[in-house]
Amino acid sequence: MGRSLMSCKDVSSLIGQSLDGRLPLADRIRIRVHLLFCEACKRFSFQVRFLEKTMEATIRDGPPPESGSPGLSPEARERILGEIRKGKNP
Ligand SMILES: [Zn+2]
Repeated sequence: MGRSLMSCKDVSSLIGQSLDGRLPLADRIRIRVHLLFCEACKRFSFQVRFLEKTMEATIRDGPPPESGSPGLSPEARERILGEIRKGKNP
């Protein structure tokens, strides 16, 4: 019970924003603290991270050739990857 604790709603919205890496350190710390005791948000954060990794890998490596999916052109892939990297910490 503290003023500094965030609700699950706040935390999940911040976790969503943290995907583009623009979250202030203070918010990231508060998320971590919340995750220490909140199983639901911890799971949510894992899912988001998994999704992010999967997305990045798909953009980076493209779909497997045998999958038959059209995929992105190398130029589009580079552009999207660049956008993702730009948002991240230097
Ligand atoms: Zn929570």
